[in-house]
Amino acid sequence: MRIVIVGGVAAGMSAAMQVKRRRADAEIVVLERGDFVAYGACGIPYNLEDPARDIEDLVVRTPQEFRAHGIDVRLRHEVLSIDPARKLVRVRHAAGIWDLEYDRLIVATGASPLVPPIRGVDRPGVHVLRDLSDAAKIKQRIAGGEVARAVIVGGGYIGMEMAEALRQRGIAVTVVERLGRVVFGFEPAISDIVRDELLRLDVRVETDASVDSIDEQLSVHTSAGTVAADLVLVSVGVRPNVALARDAGIALGPTGAIAVDEGMRTSLPDVFAAGDCAEAHHLVADSPAYIPLGTTANKQGKVAGANAAGAHEVFAGIVGTAAFRVFEVEVGRTGLGRADIERAGRDDLVSISTHASRGHAFPGSAPLTTVLFVERDTGRLVGAQMAGRGVVGTRIDVFATALHANMTVDDIERLDLAYAPPIAPVYDPILIAASVARKDLERARRG
Ligand SMILES: Cc1cc2nc3c(=O)[nH]c(=O)nc-3n(C[C@H](O)[C@H](O)[C@H](O)COP(=O)(O)OP(=O)(O)OC[C@H]3O[C@@H](n4cnc5c(N)ncnc54)[C@H](O)[C@@H]3O)c2cc1C
Repeated sequence: MRIVIVGGVAAGMSAAMQVKRRRADAEIVVLERGDFVAYGACGIPYNLEDPARDIEDLVVRTPQEFRAHGIDVRLRHEVLSIDPARKLVRVRHAAGIWDLEYDRLIVATGASPLVPPIRGVDRPGVHVLRDLSDAAKIKQRIAGGEVARAVIVGGGYIGMEMAEALRQRGIAVTVVERLGRVVFGFEPAISDIVRDELLRLDVRVETDASVDSIDEQLSVHTSAGTVAADLVLVSVGVRPNVALARDAGIALGPTGAIAVDEGMRTSLPDVFAAGDCAEAHHLVADSPAYIPLGTTANKQGKVAGANAAGAHEVFAGIVGTAAFRVFEVEVGRTGLGRADIERAGRDDLVSISTHASRGHAFPGSAPLTTVLFVERDTGRLVGAQMAGRGVVGTRIDVFATALHANMTVDDIERLDLAYAPPIAPVYDPILIAASVARKDLERARRG
């Protein structure tokens, strides 16, 4: 039994480890076109902000270590095509092009950065950030002392994390965002907190500014003016790497990523897909979604690997939980946001509250702002967002759990949550948010 895996990062290597655990006799071949496998891309911004750390610190296991576990990892091997009828992949390496047969195939080709058609975007000094090779180039330029000013094109979460990383290296940073505010997937109340934190740390924020061109000196010309830079980072999102699958006849879903069932099977027999190239079932929207995240990639890879090895595991689905930090502010979301609600033609109530992160007058207590989206008829929570200078990540996880359990805001308000002044107030912001939402709902129902 030969199991071939295309792509060797979160999804691909989780799949490989799972196959190994379940079928010690299987031959496992991982084909990775890049220079690294099994690294934590999510840690890149924090590695970049620390000049003492080697970028390869982010590698969890090297190809040699995988080989010692009986997993044949081949770097700089690109899969050019899949022939499902003959069950083989065509592979290109410096040594030539050849075909490799498979019994089961796992497509874990991930995603690639979107690069908008801006004049000058291909100049040296303009970077994207997706993998360790991208990160190494940025780190090298900073270490060379060439970067005093940086422009980040795109105000998404990676742009925010990179604004922090570059500021920590003493670099003057400007964030240029085409839309009206940073982290546009969040409500304005949340975006404002993020913007204020950027401004507090002297990051310039240009919103409603689309980039027209980048000139030879790396000055970025936008609809709002010109910003001089020594380094430009384009971070405007990703698209799933689906060409390989699509050309082999594997069905794509409505989001444009690879359609999979709950066992991570694609439309072709013996071919699985996982991670940022694939869709996931959104449990709240009850529809396929494309929310490319490391957490999902790891879990989907595990299920794909298990099932490729003959098991019957299920990936239950996602509720769209994500969090990030920018300087001292934590930000998180789960469930549906405004765009999802509008797209689905829903009429959910939006409730905003702000409450202290810690016990009354406890040092370090700071306001946390919570936005809840609530189904009007039932009071069921359908989405939550939170931001502030306190613990947000684990609080968002409570809301995510509530979504998994189909809880109403009444249910959430009755939760027995911990209280200790350094950790949380008597009424945690979660309970306050649920209570405020319940009252908002009652008011709305009364008309
Ligand atoms: C800076 C940054 C911060 C992030 N922070 C977070 C975070 O905090 N939390 C979170 O959940 N997620 C985060 N993510 C997202 C997370 O890193 C990705 O979701 C995750 O890496 C996806 O893993 P993957 O294996 O599906 O795809 P990828 O990481 O894209 O790996 C796919 C691999 O497939 C290879 N490949 C593609 N096509 C071929 C081919 N034809 N032949 C051979 N190889 C091929 C590619 O070279 C690539 O190495 C972050 C990402 C970045 C860049």
